[in-house]
Amino acid sequence: MLEVRGLEAFYGDAQALHGVDLVVREGEVVTLVGRNGAGKTTLLRCLMGLHRDVRGSVTLDGTEITGLGPHQRARRGLGWVQDDRGIYASLSVEENLTLPPVTHPDGAWSLAQVYDAFPVLADRRRAPGTTLSGGEQQMLALARVLRTGARVLLLDEPSEGLAPVIVQRIRDIVQQVKANGTTVLLVEQNVRFASSVADRHYVLAEGHVAADLDNEEFTRRQDELLAYLGM
Ligand code: ATP
Repeated sequence: MLEVRGLEAFYGDAQALHGVDLVVREGEVVTLVGRNGAGKTTLLRCLMGLHRDVRGSVTLDGTEITGLGPHQRARRGLGWVQDDRGIYASLSVEENLTLPPVTHPDGAWSLAQVYDAFPVLADRRRAPGTTLSGGEQQMLALARVLRTGARVLLLDEPSEGLAPVIVQRIRDIVQQVKANGTTVLLVEQNVRFASSVADRHYVLAEGHVAADLDNEEFTRRQDELLAYLGM
């Protein structure tokens, strides 16, 4: 459903992506792994239309979306959770959850579903965004995109810096959205987390795809990958 061909991205004269090719099929969970600076975040930003200095092609359900801006892509079903989480600090948890426009009503989570999946957000529904812990912010950011009904989730390091119990919760949610048929592409440096949720993995190195591994091979080569990623 999401297809990337020959994607190149630039920051001024510096080239960050050198012809990335990848495919994410409907209902798949796919990770992007790679060392710092490999181009993972840049790739997600290009997919969401947030980075405009690009060449190459991105199609969603066979339709070219390369020239579209972030809002148009969101309307077509792409949902983005950025690594700095983008929470409105002055608004309460519930206000943050009520703001995102619903783009695909069929898959949009209700407030009740969100609070059921993330009881901690229910407990803190009146708390301002500023007072949330890192883990709570990560859950809120994910919950906000689930509220829109996005059909393809682009997640940037959802487990980064979180306590194991919260990583487990995020893993459950990824498995739940997959079971509902939602497609997920996530940047993930935590190899164990990646192998526990994903069907396939792309290893990015220096702005191109160095390997495309199914989860069985990825899991078998976990130690090698951990060493390669410097973990
Ligand atoms: P990390 O895990 O460290 O975030 P990454 O794989 O997500 O790494 P990117 O952040 O996409 O990598 O960076 C890819 C390349 O683009 C790197 O060489 C980085 O230095 C460069 N880069 C990223 N953001 C900018 C920017 N705003 N201006 C200039 N160069 C940038």
